[in-house]
Amino acid sequence: MTTPCIITVAITGSVPRKEHNPAVPITVSEQVESTHAAFEAGASIAHVHVRNDDQTPTSDPERFARLLEGLRRHCPGMIVQFSTGGRSGQGTARGGMLHLGCDMASLSTGSCNFPSIIYENPPELIRFLARKMLDHNVKPEIEVFDLSMLYQALALADEGLLRRPLHVQFVMGVKNAMPAVRQAFDFMVDEVTRLAPESTWVAAGIGRHQLEVNRWCLERGGHCRTGLEDNVRWDASRLAASNAELVARLAALCASHDRHPASAAEARAILGLAPATS
Ligand code: ZN
Repeated sequence: MTTPCIITVAITGSVPRKEHNPAVPITVSEQVESTHAAFEAGASIAHVHVRNDDQTPTSDPERFARLLEGLRRHCPGMIVQFSTGGRSGQGTARGGMLHLGCDMASLSTGSCNFPSIIYENPPELIRFLARKMLDHNVKPEIEVFDLSMLYQALALADEGLLRRPLHVQFVMGVKNAMPAVRQAFDFMVDEVTRLAPESTWVAAGIGRHQLEVNRWCLERGGHCRTGLEDNVRWDASRLAASNAELVARLAALCASHDRHPASAAEARAILGLAPATS
């Protein structure tokens, strides 16, 4: 039996991409359909943002609720991870949907620059979101866009604002933030292993770095993320056809590293989440 690899599919995102790909799902029904195909291809976590019909990002709880309901119905057992990312709302509104019953939510533990904006995560907002996740039994995925954010997460865990074991994601290749450099990746994996060895971890490579970072994760025994939020291209010559296509490519890559895509039940057990009830 090979070791399971949890595949996260980041289906939509909030950044209007220059190289727009019509396969990016925008409406709730498109998102459910796209996630279902990705689930069938081997994804066990859906990382989701919601958009208004005019494509602008929103943190509207009603829209998150409709998406969650659709995913629960069509992707039984799949782990649903809401984004609390900064483009979808201002301040504490970014956590306005954490009471809806999602399994996980993203939590950035610091600020950095994005391609054209400051990604603002002031200390008091981080603490507010962490507290709300604790109150609603939502497991955070710590988003590490820069090295200091790893250490901030560990400090919050020491304070009791984050429950151990942590689940940490290193995000590499965002313009103006941390580049996709192998030495930096290895250093962060070594640090999380040294300082919080009970943690689980994953990395996301943005744009053309997606597949390369997938390989690094598989080599080092981590979990993997793919999806149209991070990368809309299959390769330099064509756009990705769907989220499912990217997941299927990653699932095949797992096999070549003696790994298999974790089932939803396996992923829940690895992350310490309750088994699905429906
Ligand atoms: Zn996201």
